[in-house]
Amino acid sequence: MFTCSACGAKYNGQTPRWRCDCGHYLHFTSPGMFPKQELKQRPPTLWRYFEAFGIASRDNIVTMGEGYTPLVATEIFGQEVFLKLDYLCPTGSFKDRGTTVMLSKIKEWGIDRIVEDSSGNAGASVSAYAVRAGIQADVYIPAYTSAGKAAQIALYGAKLVRVPGTREDTTRAALAAAENAFYASHNWNPHFVAGLKSLAYEIAEQLDWETPDWIVAPVGGGSLFLGLYEGWRDLMDAGYVTKFPRLVAVQASNCAPIYAGWSQNLDDVPAIEKKATAAEGISIAQPVKGKDILKAIRATEGVACTVTDEEIWDTLPLLAHRGFYVEPTSAATPAAIKKLKAQGIIKDTDKVVVELTGFGLKATDKLIEHYSHLFS
Ligand SMILES: *Cc1c(COP(=O)(O)O)cnc(C)c1O
Ligand SMILES: [Zn+2]
Repeated sequence: MFTCSACGAKYNGQTPRWRCDCGHYLHFTSPGMFPKQELKQRPPTLWRYFEAFGIASRDNIVTMGEGYTPLVATEIFGQEVFLKLDYLCPTGSFKDRGTTVMLSKIKEWGIDRIVEDSSGNAGASVSAYAVRAGIQADVYIPAYTSAGKAAQIALYGAKLVRVPGTREDTTRAALAAAENAFYASHNWNPHFVAGLKSLAYEIAEQLDWETPDWIVAPVGGGSLFLGLYEGWRDLMDAGYVTKFPRLVAVQASNCAPIYAGWSQNLDDVPAIEKKATAAEGISIAQPVKGKDILKAIRATEGVACTVTDEEIWDTLPLLAHRGFYVEPTSAATPAAIKKLKAQGIIKDTDKVVVELTGFGLKATDKLIEHYSHLFS
């Protein structure tokens, strides 16, 4: 079931739809819950939580065995943490959690042609899953998008459309093309967030249903963050856990609308001035779901915080020295631990989970450029 985030209109979800008739985005409500006691017999993919995703028939599942990524204990900045290695999903980012469920629903709806706009990881993920499902995908990217990302999108088999101008121009072009195809945008599609709920389910299961004190996660458009929050709410409603973890929303200091809204105690995100940042995956100045993200932070007694590009570049090698190779966007999240500890927000004895979203190999060009002194 879908409920409009603005006017409250409800839709049964049986026919294709990506937003409300009033133009706002839709919330997804899980139709049921997975039976906890059966999980041990199920394969180790996120489809072990099938009942929560709103897919009617298992025949429509489009999967590459995504999810159930390792949760590994390590230490960073003197803090014991569990790293959630979501960069090990099939296309190299956590986006596959949302895409596998979104594309399964699109297949179930009988759609054979979609458009998506993205500048990176979501485009690669949608390309891979759509083509695998036999669905034609046109992925719109800004003309300035780096060659490596364009290559991954094109090689999976989507039709790549390069749009001159800004990121916003790309969205406009994709929306115009959506007159003749379904708009499968990861920022709008309610089943994308449904898939992200699996992150909450998995962390809970992997910690033997014990709630950590903190989950530290990046926020760009906020699908990941809201999936985490709504997934945990499902676990509470089902009685599978007894409390919420406090959620930390991490943003880049050069583009931090959620941090601005949170620190100024606002209900919605204010307009901000956006500057360039190494954390391109979370560089979103006007997140559509800003209000809900702020609510989720406050509902869990969480916090928002920012990290500078310098802190990101300093943290990436620290992770690599422990064997975890992530892209700059993904290093922003663990970078926040240093500040949160120094401010006494996270304590030595706290149980902390840190989400790692994107693989280092995604950004090889940037890593070569930035760390050239290490190997020249
Ligand atoms: C998309 C992305 C994010 C941000 O996720 P949202 O759901 O948009 O908040 C963070 N890290 C990486 C690597 C991403 O690709
Ligand atoms: Zn509405």
